[in-house]
Amino acid sequence: MICEICGYENDDYSRRCDSCHALLKQQQCEICGKWSFEVSAGVCNKCLEKYATIDNAISYGIDNKESVEINGFFAWLFSPGEIERLLRRALVEKQYVKEDARTYCLGEYSEGYAEYESAKYFIGWAEKEGEIK
Ligand SMILES: [Zn+2]
Ligand SMILES: [Zn+2]
Repeated sequence: MICEICGYENDDYSRRCDSCHALLKQQQCEICGKWSFEVSAGVCNKCLEKYATIDNAISYGIDNKESVEINGFFAWLFSPGEIERLLRRALVEKQYVKEDARTYCLGEYSEGYAEYESAKYFIGWAEKEGEIK
């Protein structure tokens, strides 16, 4: 956000201006409309948390496919759909998936602040998908 005092363009999650160190004002969340200091990519942390779910992480992953090298026999034996189903089953057993889903969607997520570029990309996707109205 732009500092009202010196005009410096700060990252969305900054509370103080990186240039003049003045306290920046709260920002309005583009989704819920509430004013907050905890805003990344124009969206408050409460909304980010709400949308960075496991289900959304899986849907997000479908639109951002990645290739992996696996055992040739398994690749021959199982179709991509079967591998996907096996992995979904494995997901149930994996711990900390909720935190993983959040980090996957929002980037490095520390002290309640999402990584600006990642969060921006994810929110763009979620809006396009109709996950956010
Ligand atoms: Zn400033
Ligand atoms: Zn919000």
